[in-house]
Amino acid sequence: MATDSTGVSRRAFGVGAAGLATLGASQASAIPAKPKAIPTGKPFILTTWDFGPGANAIGWPMLAGGGSALDVVEAAINHVELLGDYWVGAGGVPNEVGETTLDAMIMWGPTHDAGAVGCLKRVKKAISVARKVMEATQHSLIVGDDATRFAARMGFTETTLTSVVSQQAWDKWAAKGEKSDAFKSEPIGKPAKLAGHDTVGSIALDAAGNLCVGCSTNGREFKIPGRVGDSPIIGAGAYVDQAVGAAVATGNGDVMMRFLPTYHAVELMRGGMEPKAAAEAAIQRITDAGYEISGGIAVIRRDGMHGGAQTGWEKAGFSYSVQTAAGNVKTPVP
Ligand code: ASP
Repeated sequence: MATDSTGVSRRAFGVGAAGLATLGASQASAIPAKPKAIPTGKPFILTTWDFGPGANAIGWPMLAGGGSALDVVEAAINHVELLGDYWVGAGGVPNEVGETTLDAMIMWGPTHDAGAVGCLKRVKKAISVARKVMEATQHSLIVGDDATRFAARMGFTETTLTSVVSQQAWDKWAAKGEKSDAFKSEPIGKPAKLAGHDTVGSIALDAAGNLCVGCSTNGREFKIPGRVGDSPIIGAGAYVDQAVGAAVATGNGDVMMRFLPTYHAVELMRGGMEPKAAAEAAIQRITDAGYEISGGIAVIRRDGMHGGAQTGWEKAGFSYSVQTAAGNVKTPVP
């Protein structure tokens, strides 16, 4: 564990009793009370979009066998990353110069530790590289070619992320001679007709009562090279609080990350709000600011109560699926 020049651990930065005594009365009263812990429910796995049933079918047997939520979230998301889907993982969504790059994050409830990669190139299992960032280092986010170098150091294989489908999509788009639509004005006052985007997000609670959340995406079609979206930003793409629950987001990450919607929703639940109301409030914060985007959020409390909200996807069929011992239930978010 690293220490600074005073010999104080850089991670032990909490305000101790002596520090509190020096705070003024108004500052001290601003410190929120510890939340009343929400009871642990039975194990579950939640996964977003139509990826839900397939990813949950990978994760559920692990959970039922007493596996760790961390392993479950990684395995469920690896499954989607390797499907060859256009919107998540290798072989999809090229950037402005035709390259597919990946963003992913994993966050572990018991320790509040997190690891993420942004603009990861030439490595398929982005969520697994994110897990290495979390477990093998003190860092939380590593990006670009350096993320690839880090992955190689951790033993991952470098390979192309381009597929016939992503190459053809880019060839067709490039033939039009356009710049990325990310150069257009902000989506305020009129809906942004952006090129496509999507993310997979999973949340699991294991039999030991531990929560984990993760997400992975190849971002936004024809993005400007180097762009990193909301998925690897803690509190934007995903967030967990071991005492409360967790949330995952999908949608126009360039806008959504400005509002930290998953952090917002979990904090609202921490204050006692139910999951669906918390999801709706987090999305409404974005639309109230005037943004007209496509975006959604799925939220689950540690006792298994869940809810979702979306904007701009009334026809796109945003949904999430929750698997428990009782089976898998797909929940549309109209
Ligand atoms: N949030 C992702 C991004 O902006 C894309 C999506 O989920 O639709 O990178």
